[in-house]
Amino acid sequence: MARWVGLIGWPVEHSRSPLMHNAAFAARGLDWQYVLLPTSPDQLQAALDQIRSGELAGANVTIPHKSAVMPLLDEIDPAAEAIRAVNTIVPRDGRLIGCNTDAIGFTRALSEMAVDVNGKPCAVLGTGGAARAVAHALKGLGGSVTIYAREVTEARALIGLDGQARSLDDLDQLERETILVVNATPVGMAPNVDASPWPDDVRFPASALALDLIYNPRRTRWMAQAERSGARSTNGLAMLIYQGAAAFEMWTGHTAPVDVMRAALEAEV
Ligand code: NAP
Repeated sequence: MARWVGLIGWPVEHSRSPLMHNAAFAARGLDWQYVLLPTSPDQLQAALDQIRSGELAGANVTIPHKSAVMPLLDEIDPAAEAIRAVNTIVPRDGRLIGCNTDAIGFTRALSEMAVDVNGKPCAVLGTGGAARAVAHALKGLGGSVTIYAREVTEARALIGLDGQARSLDDLDQLERETILVVNATPVGMAPNVDASPWPDDVRFPASALALDLIYNPRRTRWMAQAERSGARSTNGLAMLIYQGAAAFEMWTGHTAPVDVMRAALEAEV
């Protein structure tokens, strides 16, 4: 019998996850389908009931439900607890477990690019769910994280006592030894492709990798700015693939066919 998983969010139409997951299910010979589940806030409980009843074998969660869903679940895994956001729900023995695969996805993407942040300065722009996942992953890898945000008080709360928080207006103070700069804001995402969170008159550290979590467009204005300073740049496609791969493995118990997922996305994104 076919099994169903889906994306709970509002809106969800822009998502590339069905493409990636359905290619992966087919490659593993699984009779599973990934569907979009547009869910307004007042429909969230009903969507969770579909997982409890077994109608759905799991779900991804996206804006605006990543934090709101947490009190409605039976258990939150330690990463999701630390990040304060759930992006994957896994049913286990009738209980709904809230997980976060963004930090795993980011860590695997960094590892694929052979970036070693241990003991090195790293910068993250933004304080939303993605920024918190990235900061959590970087701290786990031993990176020394500075958060740049519009709202510095929120950034301080995110980083805790062992990191720094600064205003986005202070990007000119970025340490020149910074090895990794991550854009975890949506600024520059299609259709606003001419926007960037970075002032034109501030240079990137030349030895840094600028990693934009945005993957549409594939090359953002921010990435182009980084390259003009002599830095390398990459987009969020690898993180998207690896966060999806981790969710696939949690739901199905099968190893994710990462190359198939990448090919499905690269054909479309
Ligand atoms: P979110 O929770 O809405 O957080 C957005 C963050 O960006 C907030 O800190 C917000 O600041 C900041 N921001 C928004 N507009 C800004 C502006 N004009 N100038 C400066 N800062 C601004 O979103 P999210 O879930 O963290 O996602 C952030 C980005 O990451 C999106 O582009 C998303 O598509 C991407 N993402 C990619 C992956 C992947 O796998 N590649 C995974 C997750 C997310 P305030 O708090 O001040 O509003």
